[in-house]
Amino acid sequence: MERTLALIKPDAVERGLQGEIMAMIQTAGLRIIAMKMLHLSKAQAEAFYAVHQARPFFASLTTYMSSGPIVALCLEGENAIQRYRDLMGATNKDQAAEGTIRKKYALDIERNSCHGSDSPETAAVEIPFFFSALELVG
Ligand code: UDP
Ligand code: MG
Repeated sequence: MERTLALIKPDAVERGLQGEIMAMIQTAGLRIIAMKMLHLSKAQAEAFYAVHQARPFFASLTTYMSSGPIVALCLEGENAIQRYRDLMGATNKDQAAEGTIRKKYALDIERNSCHGSDSPETAAVEIPFFFSALELVG
């Protein structure tokens, strides 16, 4: 059993897509064991994406991620990290497979509607960034 951190990003929440994305997650057989809506500050977005701080897109990414509300979810299931990455599709929507969240909803490479942890090590940092142990209904 594995857990992963999923975010529904500002572009998707702004368009009211959180229900549809959560339905896709549940249809894929991943269990939502925690959920909250919040609006990150610029500093919080910078902390969350600290791994990308040297990248050219960092300033724009963190401005966008703090531009409006997001939904944070903790997902649980067998092989949940890879299964949710597969459900999201490629970072760049033009390379995302049919039926993925990003193929359906992403606007461009930055405003790509969703985030998912990329490894067990990342999930172990990203889940507690948003949720305390008490908030995980496993
Ligand atoms: N991103 C961007 N430009 C790029 C690559 C990434 O704006 O050239 C944004 C995009 O929102 C992406 C996030 O930065 O989801 C984190 O990038 P990463 O490579 O970790 O992609 P992900 O793991 O989200 O697929
Ligand atoms: Mg990533």
